Amino acid sequence: MPVSAAARARIVFDSERGCIALSSVSYGLFYPLWAHDATDTDLLTRVTGDVGIDHLTIPVVTGAHTAMHFCPLVQSNLFATEGGWHYPPHREHYRATDAKVRVARWSGSRNMLERVCRAAEHASVPTVFRVNLRAIPLVTDHERHLRMQNAWGDDLAFGGLCPLNPEVQELLHSVMQDLQPYGPDGFELVDWCCDQPILSGVDRPGTWHPDLELALETCFCPACRQVAVMGGVDADAAARSARVHAGRMAAQERPADHSEPSVPDDDILWEYRQVRQHELVNWLERCAESTASDRLYLLHDSGHLPHFDAPGWQPLVRVGGTLLDGTSAELLAELEEEVIGALSLWSWQPQFKESSDLVRTVSEAVELGVQFFDFEGFECAPEEAVQWLRQAVRYARRG
Ligand SMILES: [Zn+2]
Repeated sequence: MPVSAAARARIVFDSERGCIALSSVSYGLFYPLWAHDATDTDLLTRVTGDVGIDHLTIPVVTGAHTAMHFCPLVQSNLFATEGGWHYPPHREHYRATDAKVRVARWSGSRNMLERVCRAAEHASVPTVFRVNLRAIPLVTDHERHLRMQNAWGDDLAFGGLCPLNPEVQELLHSVMQDLQPYGPDGFELVDWCCDQPILSGVDRPGTWHPDLELALETCFCPACRQVAVMGGVDADAAARSARVHAGRMAAQERPADHSEPSVPDDDILWEYRQVRQHELVNWLERCAESTASDRLYLLHDSGHLPHFDAPGWQPLVRVGGTLLDGTSAELLAELEEEVIGALSLWSWQPQFKESSDLVRTVSEAVELGVQFFDFEGFECAPEEAVQWLRQAVRYARRG
C-alpha cells in the first residue's frame, strides 16, 4: 500500500538513535512563496535539511502583507504585497462565480507555487496551503456586495467578505479545486467564521466592550439575513435588538476585564448568531467531506478563537509575531486550560527572548497535547533562527 503524504510526514529520522521513527506530532515551517523567490531555494534546503521538518505551510491566497527580511539568505529586505492569488489561477475553476480573481503583482505570470511544491516533493515534505480569502483588498474593494454589513445596513469595510455568502463560499470552493493539482496534504482557512472581522489594522468601534463589539460586528448582510429567516429567526427583529443593545452598551462603563459577551441565551440577537453559526458549521462539514485530506484547519489569532466545532476541521491558533499576545508562560497557561491541538507559532523575537525559551515552550506544548505546529517568521529572522528551531524540534522529538 502506498504511504500517504500525511503518514510520510510522520516518519522522521532520529539522528540521536540513528533510526527511522514515527512521530504523531507534525513540526512544520510556514514558508512564503515570496521568500522562496528571493532565496532561490537555499532557505528551504537549509531548513528542511537542518531541522528535518514534517510539512511546509504555504500561503497561497492572502490579504495585504508587508515584511522586513533580516534572513541573510533572503535577497530583498522589504517585501510588500497588496495580496491576492500568489500563483497563476486556472480561470475555468472560477466560472461559477462573478468575483474577479486577482493575482498578486509580485507573482506576475510566474508559478512559484509549482516550483516550491516540486522542491517539497523532492524533499518528501508534504505541503499544507493557507488560504485567507476574506481579506484581499483587491477583492473586498471591488466586490462590495460580498462584504459584511452591520445592523444599520452599513458596509463593514474592516469586516472583509462574509463567509455565509454563497458566492464567497463558491469562491473558496473554486480556490480549493484550483489547488488540487498541486497535491496539497491539507488546507488552513484563515478567519473562516461568522461575525469575525478581518484584522487589518483599522480601528474598529466598540471593541472596548465585548457586548458592544458583538452588537456592532454581527453581520446582517442579505445572505446572513436569508440564512436566519430560513432557520426560523426574524432577521429584522434581530437587527433591532443589535441596535438597542449597542445603544445601551455604549452608555455603560468599560468592563473591568475584556470578558466574554453576556447577551442572554433567549435573546433574539443571540439566536440570530447561533443559527448562522450552525449553518456555517454544516457548510464546513460538507466542505471537509469533499476534500480528500486529513489536515484541515481553521486558523484564528489567539484571543479571537471562535467557540464552535466544525466536524473535520481543527482549530489552529496563531500566536506571536506582530500580533504579540503575551509571553510564552501565558501561552502555556492557556494550553493547560484549553484543549488546543494545533499552534502557529512565531518562533523568534519578540515572542521568544532566547532559544531555550522556544525549546521549553515547544516541548511543553507537545506534552499539553499540541500535535501540529507551523513555525513562522524565518524569512524575517537572522540566520540564528534556524538553529533555534533545530534545537526546539530535536528536543521535543526526544520527548
Ligand atoms: Zn453576512
